[in-house]
Amino acid sequence: MLVSKSPSLLKNYNSLSSILKKSLKSKLPNNGTNIFSSMSKLAMENKAINLSQGYPDFEVDPILINSVAKYMKLGFNQYAPMPGVLRLREVISKKISKNYNQHYNEHDEITVTAGATQAIFTTISALIHPNDEVIIFSPSFDCYQPAVELNGGIPVFVEMESPDFNVNWNTVEENISSKTRMIIINSPQNPLGTIMSKKDMTNLERIAEKYDLIILSDEVYEHLVYDNKKHLSICSFPKLFNRSIAIFSFGKTFHVTGWKLGYVVAPKQLMSEIRKVHQFNVFSANHPLQLAVADYLENEEHFLRLNHFYEQKRDLFLEIISASRFQAKACSGTYFQLLNFSLISEIADTEMARDLTINNGIASIPISVFSHFKNDEQNLRFCFAKKEETLKRAGDILVKI
Ligand code: PMP
Ligand code: GLN
Repeated sequence: MLVSKSPSLLKNYNSLSSILKKSLKSKLPNNGTNIFSSMSKLAMENKAINLSQGYPDFEVDPILINSVAKYMKLGFNQYAPMPGVLRLREVISKKISKNYNQHYNEHDEITVTAGATQAIFTTISALIHPNDEVIIFSPSFDCYQPAVELNGGIPVFVEMESPDFNVNWNTVEENISSKTRMIIINSPQNPLGTIMSKKDMTNLERIAEKYDLIILSDEVYEHLVYDNKKHLSICSFPKLFNRSIAIFSFGKTFHVTGWKLGYVVAPKQLMSEIRKVHQFNVFSANHPLQLAVADYLENEEHFLRLNHFYEQKRDLFLEIISASRFQAKACSGTYFQLLNFSLISEIADTEMARDLTINNGIASIPISVFSHFKNDEQNLRFCFAKKEETLKRAGDILVKI
């Protein structure tokens, strides 16, 4: 029998839990641990090759690592300025001017954040009021909906159309009401690997103007666009940029997802509201990392060839799995490849992802978990931000299934 060594503590705990039973009401009753944590855990437990959660398995450039160490040794270990290190904001401003032909003032239109996730949460907290409706495409990355709901907003989901996951802009328009405040877009799109076309952007421009909407544009994969296609940043559309917030992540661009460093850009009027929240969310982002990234970002060589680097990985993965029974969906951007397994099995994608991890030693992400409508078209997402040898080992497993 279990006899407590601290009976008084146990008593306190019991009375606390009975109080909480009455007063604890979840703000996110439908959310558990997210799919990235669960699949990575399952991969680890089963010693599976982890192509589920999106992160690179190769080395970070030692120049960048040494530069962080240098700034730490030089003593930059206290708080950075609230909006971010000014020199980093200057370099970001130049980069956007050059790549997207739009000027953001480093003083009041750019803020450095603790990753894109914080930038997204902060932006939504600053701009969405209770009962405001926000259009979110489905399937989509998992952090938009909870951020809207925690701020009292109402997510309104618009399904991407099968089999190519195009946006139907008529459906978008049908879902707009007098309460709609914002549309969240994400191009290149995680988990689908699609990108927005010029026509999509023209439709977005028309709808945003007609209904006076704010656009939150998640562009963390801006440099991961393939087959000579071009990333269309919201920043480069003169009619859209005035009503838009664009969000970026150094985690993706410099292979350092664990650093959680990103930035948000928006016209002054919007940014001033975003900063009011940012200062209470985190106050400021990691100081030595910002200084190192500022130096590194100045050299365009460090990001302009990223598309070729990842395109080779995508092509290697596609070449290997072409001998398998998996069918590849088109991947124009991101470092995720969707594979359809309907020729192999009729089971649910969640079950297939579990099964492949436990029995075949390869972890992926089932797409239905990103779908508000729980649509299961038997697609799994595989991350190809991996060394050649990892991709070959993974491919060898997949061709045998
Ligand atoms: N948006 C999308 C579409 C992503 O894939 C990610 C990466 N997890 C993020 C935002 C968050 O980026 P970060 O790791 O910089 O918070
Ligand atoms: N962006 C990464 C992915 O899509 C991981 C995100 C996370 O772990 N929260 O896999």
